[in-house]
Amino acid sequence: MSTPGMNTKPALPNFDVEALRRDFPILAREINGKPLVFLDSAASAQKPRVVLESLRKTYEEEYANVHRGVYWLSATATKNYENVRKKLKTFFNAKDEREFVFTKGTTEGINLVAQSWGRAFLKAGDEVLITGLEHHSNIVPWQMLRDQIGIKLVVAPIDRNGNLIWEAFEKLLSAKTKLVAVAQVSNALGTILPIQDIVRAGHAVGAKVLIDAAQGAPHMRTDLQALDADFYAFSGHKLYGPTGTGALWGKKELLDAMPPWQGGGDMIKSVSFEKTDYADVPAKFEAGTPNIADVIAMGAAIDYLSALPWDAIEAHEADVLAYGTSLLKAIPGLRLIGEADHKAGVMSFVLEGVHPHDIGTILDQDGVSVRAGNHCAEPVMEFFGVPGTARASLGMYSTRAEMDALAAAIRKVQEIFA
Ligand code: PLP
Repeated sequence: MSTPGMNTKPALPNFDVEALRRDFPILAREINGKPLVFLDSAASAQKPRVVLESLRKTYEEEYANVHRGVYWLSATATKNYENVRKKLKTFFNAKDEREFVFTKGTTEGINLVAQSWGRAFLKAGDEVLITGLEHHSNIVPWQMLRDQIGIKLVVAPIDRNGNLIWEAFEKLLSAKTKLVAVAQVSNALGTILPIQDIVRAGHAVGAKVLIDAAQGAPHMRTDLQALDADFYAFSGHKLYGPTGTGALWGKKELLDAMPPWQGGGDMIKSVSFEKTDYADVPAKFEAGTPNIADVIAMGAAIDYLSALPWDAIEAHEADVLAYGTSLLKAIPGLRLIGEADHKAGVMSFVLEGVHPHDIGTILDQDGVSVRAGNHCAEPVMEFFGVPGTARASLGMYSTRAEMDALAAAIRKVQEIFA
């Protein structure tokens, strides 16, 4: 952003956010005659040019269906597609690239665990422990499983700032807990959950632990071997890759023991009318023609991210979040929803006397894109007693200047409603 009068000072000397922004073509455009201020990265992040270039290259030069062709194009597409697992293995420091099952996002990853692992290894009365700040994607699949096989869904409470209440969480853990499934970062509140402690506590009672990393993966590097969770689901499209991509990582021995959840081509070794032998992981979980070009482009996003200085990016995002939070808190009549001790990337707020949708619509007139609504976290909204919030969410390309633009646009909303 280079709007005159705005605070464009880079937060960190070793991180040039303006240079990074130039990698994202869409950030240079205007909306309603104003520079785009994109503050909806929690819903889906913008894509760097290398991702767009990868899509073009695949479709123009290297496209064919994967896994079945003996010809060059198919072999090349297969190699490019399978290479992405290696990239993910390195990026997340996993043990084995076969531990990554491609999905269309976090939702599909969690549903896969519920329907495959859950149906095979849980029984009536077993408990799945989640928290009060989960996205619908980490609630509904367990309710469906509850209705199918009679598991019990247990919810650990959060406090008024949006922190998980640790003592209450610990008390809910018992020998009946077979799975702990929690967000790494809350999409509605920005709370960073203590996932390392959660993994330890879950394992201590013999439970498996699933991390919903939809919002965590884009904001922090996670070392899967060090974390030692059992499942980790993320969305490629929130990680600067294309829509329709993501992956479920699971420990190999768990994935090996799990039955397939969808049947069809590509997930078999042999089929007769009497019987089918399933393929090994990960193919066992990837029935049908996959999202070839988009997965390959997710690999381009991973390459891009791998080359960035993550410590500096995390510090930059923390700086922009702290700066934006201080500006928002200075606006009379604005209530921040979610003031947890550890936060990443999200500022949810309500304005006295103004519906969140009106906030979103009016901000858009100033080129400021925020999300308004319940953010697929209705129980969170209910807990805070609001029908919804306006939510400004950050990406690594967000700037202090954009926080200035956001605050100025919010003050305009207040003038309109004064
Ligand atoms: N979990 C969290 C915390 C999210 O924020 C989201 C999406 O916003 C999801 C799960 C679902 O991700 P997707 O829609 O990419 O499947």
